[in-house]
Amino acid sequence: MTVPFNGSISRTQRVSLCVYSGFCTGVERAVRLAEGYLRERPGQELYVTGDIVHNAGVMRRLTSIGLKRIEGDAPPVGKTVLVQAHGISPSVEEVLVKNHNRIINGTCPILKANFDRFRLAEEQGFRSFLFGDRAHPEVEAIQGLLRDVVVFRDLEELSGLRNRVLTTDKIALIAQSTKPVDEYRRSAKMLVEQLKPQQLFQMHFSICAATILREEEIKEKAPLFSTVFIVGGKHSANTKKLVLLAREQCPRVHWVEDVEEARGYLALIQKSDTILIGGGASTPLQDIKAIEALFL
Ligand code: SF4
Repeated sequence: MTVPFNGSISRTQRVSLCVYSGFCTGVERAVRLAEGYLRERPGQELYVTGDIVHNAGVMRRLTSIGLKRIEGDAPPVGKTVLVQAHGISPSVEEVLVKNHNRIINGTCPILKANFDRFRLAEEQGFRSFLFGDRAHPEVEAIQGLLRDVVVFRDLEELSGLRNRVLTTDKIALIAQSTKPVDEYRRSAKMLVEQLKPQQLFQMHFSICAATILREEEIKEKAPLFSTVFIVGGKHSANTKKLVLLAREQCPRVHWVEDVEEARGYLALIQKSDTILIGGGASTPLQDIKAIEALFL
C-alpha cells in the first residue's frame, strides 16, 4: 500500500511527530459535542454512554466540567445523554428514550455509514462474520444491531469456525474500524479458501483510514529511529496495535499514557538518540506535543 504522507519518511530531525497523530475525526467530534454542551451550560451534567474516548486525561478533564459516564445497568432518567463515538445498540437507545432522556448522537458518521451497510447486507440474507473484540463498544453496538453475527477476535478463532462457515450460504465479512488491516486481509483469504462454489461472499472495507494510515506510518518510520514513543491509554486497542507494530521495527519502544510517564524515560535518552512520537486515535495532539517538548 502506498501511503500519502504529508511529509518525508526520511529522518530529518532528532525528534519527529507522526503525521497521523491526534484524535481521529469521530473521537474529535464526540469530544467537541461534549465540551460544547458543558461549556455553554456551566453547572449542568451531561451523561455519556461509555468512555467518550479511551484516554484517562481527557476523561478527567471532561468529568471535571460535568460529564458523567453511565455505569452498569442503571440508565439515567430525564437527563441529556451523549452517545459515544462507537455508537450504541438499538436496545440501549430504546431504554434511554423510554426513560425520557434527551439524546445527542455522537456516533461517528463513518461508523454510522458502516452500520447501515452491515444492516443492508443482513437484509439481503448475508450472515456477518465480524472481526472484532467482544468487549469493545463498537462490537457491542454491531451485535445489538444485527440479528445474527459471528464474532472472531483473531485468525485462530476464525479457524475454529469452519462448521459455521460451511453452513452459511451468504457470508459478509465485516470488521471493527480499529482492527489491524493486515490480519483482516488474512481473515478474508482464510474464509475464501474454505468456501464452496455455491456460497456467496462479500467483504466490507470497514477498517477506518485513520487506523490504516497510522499503522502504515509507524511501520515505515519506526525503523528509522532509535527510540519510539507511542502515546495513548492502556485500554486503547488501536494504541496497543501501534505499540506492537513499532516493536517489530524498532528495539526501543515506550508506551506512555501522558507526559508525566514519558518524563520517567528522560534519563535513558542520550543526545545521539533519534525519537519518533506517535499516538492512537484517542490521544489528543497536545499530549503528543507536550512529549515532543520534553525531548527538544
Ligand atoms: S477510528 Fe475512524 S471510524 Fe472509528 S471513531 Fe475514529 S474516525 Fe470513526
